Amino acid sequence: MKLTVIGYWGAYPEQESATSCYLLESNGFTCIVDCGSGALSRLQKYVNLMDIDAVVLSHYHNDHVADIGVLQYSWLVQNAIHQTEKVLPIYGHAEDQEKFNDLTHNYTKGMEYDPKNGLEIGPFRFKFQKTSHPAPCYAMRITNGEKTIVYTADTSYMSNLVSFSEGADLILAECSFYEHQDGGKAGHMNSKECGELARKANVPELILSHLPHFGELNQLVEEVENYYSGDVQLAKEGLTWGD
Ligand SMILES: [Zn+2]
Ligand SMILES: [Zn+2]
Repeated sequence: MKLTVIGYWGAYPEQESATSCYLLESNGFTCIVDCGSGALSRLQKYVNLMDIDAVVLSHYHNDHVADIGVLQYSWLVQNAIHQTEKVLPIYGHAEDQEKFNDLTHNYTKGMEYDPKNGLEIGPFRFKFQKTSHPAPCYAMRITNGEKTIVYTADTSYMSNLVSFSEGADLILAECSFYEHQDGGKAGHMNSKECGELARKANVPELILSHLPHFGELNQLVEEVENYYSGDVQLAKEGLTWGD
């Protein structure tokens, strides 16, 4: 399983970059997790848009879904150009029915996931864990049978993320704040909480993403290293993990 970071900012994208979007590939199957602002433009450096087999969304905040609308237009245009009728499944929860309905368009189909049951898509199995966030949001535990990634999505620190993450090979964690800041009320984690999560779950590698627009980002890594002895790095576009 290969992960490629496409977008890694929280809230909005800085120049030449995107908010939350991750490319997962295994056995020739291509899945996008979240599709934030700027994602569609950046994605095309790494994948042909019509080669995407599925999209899975954690929640409906704009920094995770802003480019769904233009993804839908790209499939409309590309299907017309190539005289094809390909339909892209977009998986999301249905706790916000209006937002869920927006996932369906001419050539995309909204597919409801039941967080209790998880999902099988191509070679991937997804388990979900509701997070602590102002909008209904789900962390994902994703495996292809060989490697396992936990994506925290957006959340404040919750102890049940520890058990959810145990045994994974990588945690892809949202890290919206520095150690001295409390992100809990906003539904986000700080660097210390990311480090504690990875340590308590005994996961060997941690990637910090959903990054803030202030401070020295490398400080986030230094702060995590005070609580976690595994491998930690900042997300950036094009960063890959696995193969
Ligand atoms: Zn977010
Ligand atoms: Zn959010």
